[in-house]
Amino acid sequence: MKGSAWTDYTAPLDCSWTWKKIVQVKDIFKAGYHDNTWIHNVSGYSIASGYNWLRTSSPKVPWRFICWNSLNIPKTAFIYWATLHKKLLTRDRLVQMGICSDFNCCLCDSAPEYHDHLFHDCVFTRRCMSLLQLKLQFPVPTDDKIRWFSAGRCKSVLQKLLAGAFYVGVIHAIWMARNHDRLHHSVIHPKVLVHQVWNEVLERWKKRNRSPLSPLETQWLSRVSM
Ligand SMILES: [Zn+2]
Repeated sequence: MKGSAWTDYTAPLDCSWTWKKIVQVKDIFKAGYHDNTWIHNVSGYSIASGYNWLRTSSPKVPWRFICWNSLNIPKTAFIYWATLHKKLLTRDRLVQMGICSDFNCCLCDSAPEYHDHLFHDCVFTRRCMSLLQLKLQFPVPTDDKIRWFSAGRCKSVLQKLLAGAFYVGVIHAIWMARNHDRLHHSVIHPKVLVHQVWNEVLERWKKRNRSPLSPLETQWLSRVSM
């Protein structure tokens, strides 16, 4: 490298694999420099600015408040994310793939099993969602929950946290109930499902919570914990 600019350096053919990789990274990052100055941060290069430049930025998605709620457990967040992108192997997809010939919903057996049906229109799901509302004791809209959560319609941060994790947990549990029914031909009662999810969410929150509650939150929590 002696006597030449670091930007022009190329790795010799007989150097190690590691050195070649380091030089490859250097070649990527040199695009972020102008006149030997890192142009993406006023105070010079930092790992954070380099990382942000490299990963590029994407628009913020409205469902991030629900999906990446800190109270969600990864498996429930993943299934929720998969429902948003219609990635789960519902029966319509299984039929398309030639794996299954039965189109009907595993839970209600009265309509074709599409994502929209299973997680929105199915009578089983609707029952779960009305039980969720009853449990929370405040109205969560049937449609467009994403906008409702992102618009901050909840009265407090605690309500938003618990309601979001509860909703995502119920979506995951509906998918599990559907799989359970497909394998064992027995449907879990919506009441049992919702009750289980709510208790799990509450337990998780109790283990993590270190902040004091407002009088409004204490009142609400004592009502919904009964
Ligand atoms: Zn159904």
